[in-house]
Amino acid sequence: MSTVLIVTEIQNGSLREACYEVASLAQQIAAATGGSVKSLVMGQGVAALADEFSKKGGGDVFLAEGDALANHNAEAESKAIVAAVEASGADLVLIPSTPSGWDTAPRAAAALDAGFVSECFDITAEGGSITYKRRVFNGKLEATISASCDKVVASVQTGATTPFEGSSEGSVRKLDVSIGDLGTKFVEVKQAESKGVDLSKADVIVSGGRGVGTPEKFLEVIQPLADALGGAMGASRPVVDAGWLPHEYQVGSSGQVVQPKLYIACGISGAIQHLVGMKTSNYIIAINKDPDAPIFEVANLGVVADLLEIVPALTEALTAAKG
Ligand SMILES: Cc1cc2nc3c(=O)[nH]c(=O)nc-3n(C[C@H](O)[C@H](O)[C@H](O)COP(=O)(O)OP(=O)(O)OC[C@H]3O[C@@H](n4cnc5c(N)ncnc54)[C@H](O)[C@@H]3O)c2cc1C
Repeated sequence: MSTVLIVTEIQNGSLREACYEVASLAQQIAAATGGSVKSLVMGQGVAALADEFSKKGGGDVFLAEGDALANHNAEAESKAIVAAVEASGADLVLIPSTPSGWDTAPRAAAALDAGFVSECFDITAEGGSITYKRRVFNGKLEATISASCDKVVASVQTGATTPFEGSSEGSVRKLDVSIGDLGTKFVEVKQAESKGVDLSKADVIVSGGRGVGTPEKFLEVIQPLADALGGAMGASRPVVDAGWLPHEYQVGSSGQVVQPKLYIACGISGAIQHLVGMKTSNYIIAINKDPDAPIFEVANLGVVADLLEIVPALTEALTAAKG
């Protein structure tokens, strides 16, 4: 019997979609083990969100409010999580794997002296035991993990599960949390300067990955194909992490989720974190020189080729055809 505690996250005044995805898993685990779902909503002036979540999959919600919780602070949040675990008797804590979740989840696990499984794309309960699935080695292998400790904190990949759509009957209970002195403090949120790239509205996206090779090749090879198709350029995360393109170009779980009519993935391996951002595109073309690249599993058309040869040839043919 598992008591599953969902740690929610508020962004721009609403609960993140990821909370409802985590609720799906939590409800399945609770049903399979005869257990229950509890949730923690943290912030300031967020009682209405706690009420909303109790009715939409969150079960009994603990509401922790205070100045220290008004903005993301992993130290303060992990104290609230410890208090919610003590109040609920939870043995499994699920946290959305968002940038804030990456910060808070391991800290909460350490504070609870619990086991920690990060980046799960699935969690199942069978025969009384819970197994956690995560991808390793760039999505080439799936690891199935079982925990031997009494308490587990697991972070759940965003976009990996369908959001909970049923209803739940839960109460909202105020949780007193003694935050005390903190070694870190929230200063400000800085909005990245937008260069006007809105991938969510583009009908055609030509994305490049690490396989493109250099930042210059994005301008010489990827952007011209996007221009020839009247579309926008996108990128995988390593491209952004390397500073080749700003974050607004990033497609994936920690970037933008896109659904264009045509998505062309060039030199992108197809890790799950990229796929969750583009797999619902209407038509997917993948260009990769590795015939075993996972991107081909979601592609409508797969081209095994060197992108540095085929993409310029395609751009030239399109430009010639347009006259
Ligand atoms: C918490 C977390 C969040 C993440 N969020 C995201 C996210 O939002 N978006 C994202 O994309 N990733 C994300 N990632 C990273 C993700 O796991 C992968 O590491 C990443 O998607 C790999 O990017 P890639 O395909 O460009 O690079 P690689 O995996 O290195 O693949 C490069 C590909 O290029 C091919 N290639 C090389 N040269 C050529 C050539 N000349 N012609 C054709 N093909 C060529 C290779 O065969 C290879 O398949 C995240 C990871 C974590 C842990």
